[in-house]
Amino acid sequence: MIKENNDGEFDFENRIVAPEVIKQDSPDEVDYSLRPKTLSEYIGQDKVKENLKIYIEAAKRRGEPLDHVLLYGPPGLGKTTLSGIIAHEMGVNLRITSGPAIEKPGDLAALLTGLETGDVLFIDEIHRLSRAVEEVLYPALEDFALDIIMGKGAQARSIRIDLNHFTLVGATTRAGQLTSPLRDRFGVIHRLELYTHEQLCDIILRSAVILSIACDTDGAMELAKRSRGTPRIANRLLKRVRDFAEVMGNGRVTKEIAQIALDRMEVDALGLDTMDKRMLTMIIKGYGGGPVGLETLAAAIGEEAITLEDVCEPYLMQLGFLSRTPRGRCATEAAYRHLGFEKKDCGGQMSLL
Ligand code: ADP
Repeated sequence: MIKENNDGEFDFENRIVAPEVIKQDSPDEVDYSLRPKTLSEYIGQDKVKENLKIYIEAAKRRGEPLDHVLLYGPPGLGKTTLSGIIAHEMGVNLRITSGPAIEKPGDLAALLTGLETGDVLFIDEIHRLSRAVEEVLYPALEDFALDIIMGKGAQARSIRIDLNHFTLVGATTRAGQLTSPLRDRFGVIHRLELYTHEQLCDIILRSAVILSIACDTDGAMELAKRSRGTPRIANRLLKRVRDFAEVMGNGRVTKEIAQIALDRMEVDALGLDTMDKRMLTMIIKGYGGGPVGLETLAAAIGEEAITLEDVCEPYLMQLGFLSRTPRGRCATEAAYRHLGFEKKDCGGQMSLL
């Protein structure tokens, strides 16, 4: 559900189908209660899991830290969770930080010198590290050393400090924005995929047990279908639907309760919300189905282009509702059908939505 804020604009930060952590999320979403702690508890992403299992086993047998790991893919798919699992399986400590939080080279140096042998350092949004910080990271990743410049001008000299061997787990939603020298320093690179309905159903049933929510398999499947392939959204929907189940039923999340609750929250059968529909409807009714440039489209519905690109487009493209062409965005036949439009509805005329 999207609420309007005081300026009458959509409140993206509280969008119930947002893949990122939102303000309304209870600490469960951000703390560790729902996070799987071992590889066997982690549902889906089989290829990533199988490979990591082997790398972890091999590193443990050799008594060495794991090679540096890069995980990329949309938010909410379990990158932070996997870094916790790696640390747990290796029996070492985990330090969590993010690209924007490491402002100066000194911040990174402080983090790195505090790591013990084998520790896992998780850097979320690693594509947002500044160039100066990245320069410090290179020798740290390759030689486990820090090169510190002391003094200025002719007096300047470089001192090398040895670091304990550690494992960096980097996460990014935008692998394309990573510089190639940084990318090249990761020995293990994995892309996380959106989850299937069956996998999300298993995740929801697992979370229901942890949160003591009675949940039918049919109910969980209904939530799974509307969760946009994303565990974070699935867990959030489960918790919101629990409220409906308690007030409107006997506390059990059934298929019927899930349908009623999600309809009320304006999340449709495929997980589209008002914002997705506004975007598609504008392409169809305002621009004859497209192509329309992203900037033009954003201006027409009064939103930032980057928000549409990051927040709506990945899932609409995954559903096959939106295509990107060099001349702009187009709504597909499937989008017309889903929204109940016929091709004749699009006259290329701007109309009031
Ligand atoms: P990311 O770092 O990619 O944004 P997180 O690791 O924070 O995503 O995952 C979001 C939430 O989804 C976590 O709280 C966790 O409970 C749940 N989750 C993610 N992946 C899985 C999985 N494979 N199995 C079970 N739960 C998962």
